[in-house]
Amino acid sequence: MIKKRKMLKVKNLKKHFRVRKKLLKAVDDVSFEIKAGETLGLVGESGSGKSTLGKMLLRLHKPTSGKIYYEDKDINDISRKERKLVQRDMQIIFQDPYSSLNPKLTVEEIISEPLLIHRTLPKNEQNRRVDELLDLTRLPLRSKQKYPYEFSGGERQRIGIARALALSPKFIVCDEPISALDVSIQAQIMNLLEDLQKELGLTYLFIAHDLAMVRHISTRVAVMYLGKIVELAPTEELFNNPKHPYTEALLSSYPELNTRKRKSNIILAGDIPSPLTPPSGCRFHTRCPKALFACSEKEPKLKEINRDHLGACHLD
Ligand code: SF4
Repeated sequence: MIKKRKMLKVKNLKKHFRVRKKLLKAVDDVSFEIKAGETLGLVGESGSGKSTLGKMLLRLHKPTSGKIYYEDKDINDISRKERKLVQRDMQIIFQDPYSSLNPKLTVEEIISEPLLIHRTLPKNEQNRRVDELLDLTRLPLRSKQKYPYEFSGGERQRIGIARALALSPKFIVCDEPISALDVSIQAQIMNLLEDLQKELGLTYLFIAHDLAMVRHISTRVAVMYLGKIVELAPTEELFNNPKHPYTEALLSSYPELNTRKRKSNIILAGDIPSPLTPPSGCRFHTRCPKALFACSEKEPKLKEINRDHLGACHLD
């Protein structure tokens, strides 16, 4: 079997925001790798730090500390010219296709904007590239002179995808790309993302709430809770053999994903605590049905439990 090349490596990454004299630890000491051509799914409740993490990879949020390596280069320690090249390679598809498109620009202007900024193509070739991108995202050529308001949610998301593809990236952060869409449209966008991945050899970080969709598209899945990765495993291993009590609880609320005997719906006590005042020790201990006394005192480290299966729980 050919071993896949590592594309992205994240080491001890943190993003802390100062909020009312307190420190909000949105992402707190996270490490993982993404291999070329794979889709890493990222799941967890709202407020777990998923989107902040995705945006840090593209430097839309500057990390507080930690390292991001893209194709073995530390992206904080490269020349301006190299950084521009990395920026081209790494793009994002946003959650909301309504607010992420400038309503004053035509589709042609929206899609060609990255080409203008990065000056990758002469003017006369930009038009051809826009046609190519509309074709890739299954949008009619007549869309070019229209404005975002003239399109449905699904079509707007296709425009967002076309814009993300303009510079021929290798890696895309898909930040909840279907959660603002009608259920009937979600499958179409998922199919498009899968087709594009095969056709263009893309690598995805796929952030989502919908576990069924994450299972469908991901090669591996990472589970986040209050700024930490608590479990990371190949997709079927994670869904069939979850190790962390938080993952078990998340999966139990999706009976349709219950391929192995799994306890029916595990109700977690209370809401996710505030990241301004995270619990001591294991951050999940205030809601964990299996918590021991030691869990409130000692923080469990993310470690290998089975081959390629990492978990952060004192019980493993
Ligand atoms: Fe639950 Fe303790 Fe494991 Fe945390 S370390 S998930 S509180 S059992």
